[in-house]
Amino acid sequence: MNMMNLKEIKEFLSGKDDNTLFHEADKVRLQIFGKDVYIRGIIEFSNMCREDCLYCGLRKSNRKLKRYQLTMEEILEGVELAGMNNIKTIVLQSGDDLSYNKEFIGKLIEEIKKRLDVVITLSLGERTYDEYAYWREKGAERYLLKIETFDEELYKKMRPGKKLEDRLQRLEWLKELDYEVGSGIIVGLPGQDLDSLTNDLRRLAELDLDMIATGPFIPHPETPLRDYPHGDVNLSIRVIALLRIMNPYSNIPATSALASLHSDAREKGLKAGANVIMPSLTPKRVRLLYNIYPGKNESCQCVIDEINYIKGIIEKAGYIPSDSKGYSPRRLYA
Ligand code: SF4
Repeated sequence: MNMMNLKEIKEFLSGKDDNTLFHEADKVRLQIFGKDVYIRGIIEFSNMCREDCLYCGLRKSNRKLKRYQLTMEEILEGVELAGMNNIKTIVLQSGDDLSYNKEFIGKLIEEIKKRLDVVITLSLGERTYDEYAYWREKGAERYLLKIETFDEELYKKMRPGKKLEDRLQRLEWLKELDYEVGSGIIVGLPGQDLDSLTNDLRRLAELDLDMIATGPFIPHPETPLRDYPHGDVNLSIRVIALLRIMNPYSNIPATSALASLHSDAREKGLKAGANVIMPSLTPKRVRLLYNIYPGKNESCQCVIDEINYIKGIIEKAGYIPSDSKGYSPRRLYA
């Protein structure tokens, strides 16, 4: 079934047969990952951004957002919390904030590696080849860089001044540097239709990625897209299921964007093939300010409660919270 043609993909996206789709996706995830769900702790260390993406609450034109930047010590406090809770992957994420330069991030990677036996994932946006290479050398193993849409016109509209080809070029660099590479798309962007989404799924599969993330578009009141409807949750779950079937070996998260629209949507995402959840370890005092979309990080519990809550979701869905580092099986089998 993982060799689906475009017509079949589009039919499943339209809701032709959700039962078969979700059942097949779950079967594939069980074959590759068993019942394990990997927990990756994410530290969102800066909400500053030089870009102006239309769909994002961190865009530079949003003057209402109170901005923050964590110090090295504050980031390391979050890392310690991960260690205390047996989390084996730390995701370091920020807006496109160049004030955290090559040396700072390199030092941060070194410090984390000195203190804990963890895998480090970076999600720092578009940087130079030299920076990616330096951080890889320092010990970062994974990099997330979402494409959001492969539709060139839509991409240009949604990310003013940016080019799809530059983003794709960076994914190639990251592969060349032997990172585990992740990307992903938004479901329900204004201007996206089922043909465009079908094409996104095909292009993602062609990229042969280690990680693929997807979540519904959620309009932010301080962006030009404030009046557009949010992406469809059921369609987002179908996208997860299709991603699983078409990319059996990729790690696929049940994202927080799903949870922002529907309380049990992450559980549904797990049942449709997702095998990763990423709780926020960002300090409570700034967590709500990482406001990419409304509802993001809203639970705002302390870290231990957040992790226990996430474990509860996993168990309720019938799976097992795993403290494995969760390396990409694609590299072993694909
Ligand atoms: S999507 Fe990323 S690059 Fe675009 S405005 Fe938001 S944080 Fe910045």
